Amino acid sequence: MKALVKFGMNDGDVEVRDVPEPELLPGTVLVAARAVGVCGSDIHMWRNGQSWEVALPVILGHETAGVIAAVADDVTGWQVGDRVVCETAASICGTCALCRTGRYNLCPHRQGYGAIRDGAFGELLCAEPRVLHRIPENVTFEQAAMTEPFAVAYNALVERATVTPGDIVVIQGAGAIGALALQIARLRGAGTTIVLGTPVDEHRLAKLRELGADYTIDVTKEDPAELLKTLGDGFGADVVVDATGVSIALKQSLELVRPFGSIVKVGWGPQPLNFSLDPLVAKAATLYGSFSHTWTTWERVLSLFSTGALETEKVLGGVYELADWKRAFEDMESGRNIKSVMVMPG
Ligand SMILES: [Zn+2]
Ligand SMILES: [Zn+2]
Repeated sequence: MKALVKFGMNDGDVEVRDVPEPELLPGTVLVAARAVGVCGSDIHMWRNGQSWEVALPVILGHETAGVIAAVADDVTGWQVGDRVVCETAASICGTCALCRTGRYNLCPHRQGYGAIRDGAFGELLCAEPRVLHRIPENVTFEQAAMTEPFAVAYNALVERATVTPGDIVVIQGAGAIGALALQIARLRGAGTTIVLGTPVDEHRLAKLRELGADYTIDVTKEDPAELLKTLGDGFGADVVVDATGVSIALKQSLELVRPFGSIVKVGWGPQPLNFSLDPLVAKAATLYGSFSHTWTTWERVLSLFSTGALETEKVLGGVYELADWKRAFEDMESGRNIKSVMVMPG
């Protein structure tokens, strides 16, 4: 089958290759991928700028929507033809304290699709039933492929730092996670939403204003701290979401958060920090890390797609064939798209 493979540890070491189809192992199903989202993390791996472990060669892709193509004899409850999305942990140990308390997203033995285990930018994906969710009838594959990044945003703003109605919410980063965090913040009743970007985000920031951002700021031209002084009591943001993937963004988060406010960090950045965390203490602010998601989050997001409470169309910049993967990646990297989705052959 054709698949998009990361084969080396240099910038650009990604190509479409012919690879063997995955085997239908006991206890698993094969999912024929139909639509698969391109994640910021896929672009990091294309550029070899990832700060997480990868096992080479690996098929990229973890934002999977498809149809079950085969079911092992010992699997019940799932049938060929079922429309499904797949969570991102291809395997977990199932027995550690985190797995047994429902926090399997943090299992130290977690092997993620598209990094350690072969992902979904291919025709077939091997999955344990544990990761499957049914796609509601009125949700398309292209929409369903966005369940994962929406689940990331939901986890950050509902299950970690909680947005309260009326809150001032600052979102650092205008990429996919920033855009989806904006929608979740608005759904939670945020009073004022402010999205921060850089010149490369010009097009995305305009899209985010359409999606309801009250303010969008190019931080190279304007200081968001000045705006915050004019909002509410002037003490700053109740919640700051770091969706940038750059460590230094935390310095700005600490500046913008109000005393007793919260910062939730979603973006990864391997760069070391060289500034003081004293403002965190002085403001008695709370800093949350937010990683991945669990079963309930996926079900919630799918039901919000189904009712139309979350808008997927404005976020989806383009749908591309696998052969055209480079354009799908470049259109996200350059800021033309908030989200690219690829459709798989077969
Ligand atoms: Zn993702
Ligand atoms: Zn575990």
